[in-house]
Amino acid sequence: MVKVSYMIRRDYLVVGAGIGGASACEGIRKYDKRGSVTLVGAEAFPPYKRWILSKSFLREKEANLKKLQEFDERWFEAHKIETRFGTVVTQFNIDRRLAVLANGESIEFTKACLAMGSRPVRPPAAGTSLGNVIYLRTIRDALALREMASLEKTIMVVGGGLLASEAAASLRMMKMKVGLMHRDAYLLNRYVDPNTGVWLTDYFAKHGVVLSMGEALNGFEGKTVLRNIQTKSGNRFPVGLAVVACGAEPNLDLVRNTPLAGPHGSPVTEYLETEEKGIYAIGDLAFYPDRIMGGMRRQTHWENAREQGLVAGANMTGKKRIRYEQVPYFWTEMFDLRMDFVGDFTLPPTRVNLDGSYPKKKFSARYYQGDKLRAILLCQQTQREVDAAKNQLRQAQGK
Ligand SMILES: Cc1cc2nc3c(=O)[nH]c(=O)nc-3n(C[C@H](O)[C@H](O)[C@H](O)COP(=O)(O)OP(=O)(O)OC[C@H]3O[C@@H](n4cnc5c(N)ncnc54)[C@H](O)[C@@H]3O)c2cc1C
Repeated sequence: MVKVSYMIRRDYLVVGAGIGGASACEGIRKYDKRGSVTLVGAEAFPPYKRWILSKSFLREKEANLKKLQEFDERWFEAHKIETRFGTVVTQFNIDRRLAVLANGESIEFTKACLAMGSRPVRPPAAGTSLGNVIYLRTIRDALALREMASLEKTIMVVGGGLLASEAAASLRMMKMKVGLMHRDAYLLNRYVDPNTGVWLTDYFAKHGVVLSMGEALNGFEGKTVLRNIQTKSGNRFPVGLAVVACGAEPNLDLVRNTPLAGPHGSPVTEYLETEEKGIYAIGDLAFYPDRIMGGMRRQTHWENAREQGLVAGANMTGKKRIRYEQVPYFWTEMFDLRMDFVGDFTLPPTRVNLDGSYPKKKFSARYYQGDKLRAILLCQQTQREVDAAKNQLRQAQGK
């Protein structure tokens, strides 16, 4: 069969239809009602609440796709934004300002926003592609996990970060037998201080998650489906299902070997523009200068992608020139706990001030580097307190 290709011209092309890409479209339309916009996304669904996948979406008896909705197709129609869902951009030619789509179309664009997000890291271990080894990123992954969890009795979660902990908590709330193996001594060790980490890890143990801390993954064993997980220390866990959550890496394949693909993400200016004029990068993909906390940063969190999308979209129109200057922020939910993380958690604090108490599950922990307040972790606090924490951090940095 002969493949027919079409060439179209657009003022704006947005690659990746997650929260970042959708927000970029919103940002464009706020300041340019007429320019032609195409949003291309590999997933078949319109931009959805990815963050629910490890939370209520996993736990509910019936998979409720409606609850996932963030932007529906009517919103794009109403705003005259052309969409290509279920379509991968396969080539992105920076010099010619031309993108090629898997459906045969080519789009010549004036400005573009890269919003390809991230994908789960596959640990360097044997058997990572076996059936029943699940990586939780998309609706399809979550549906597969729901299905398999209904058939398997024993599940092992590999990892001890946000996603691993959320998934373990949700699966446990579904009354499954859940194990969690993590190479470090306590959960969320990349973010929290040892006391909070030990308390949280204990909380998981009390809720019946069987923890194997200090165990590094050696490999998954089985012919086509998983039978055992082997650890570096020589332990072997017999399990029929594994959820692997060992971090998220930026989806940079499309711009590989160009300056738009750096080792930590796509480097951008404070306006979220790459070194190629008119080409922006946002969300999980972007490596941006943090005007509040200092340094360069890549965040893999919802609110960052949302806000960066809005800023980049506005800047793309040329009618605005807005700097991205938000205090880094994310939240998580595990069992009955809601935790909000405000500020920079990348360095272990030299001092921690705890307000509240672990047994009451209600506290704020302030993290200092020397005398400087750098981050605030809030457990079971109100939105008002979260907003106040953002202000406090801004002030502490003199911003
Ligand atoms: C299970 C789960 C739970 C989470 N929970 C939280 C939470 O509680 N709090 C929080 O702050 N954050 C959470 N996050 C993180 C948050 O969802 C992400 O930071 C956010 O989705 C990033 O948005 P994005 O638009 O940058 O990228 P993504 O959401 O990854 O979207 C990128 C899209 O681009 C598409 N794409 C990639 N390459 C191409 C291509 N070549 N052509 C076309 N399309 C392409 C991808 O398929 C994808 O649909 C969670 C993430 C997961 C996976």
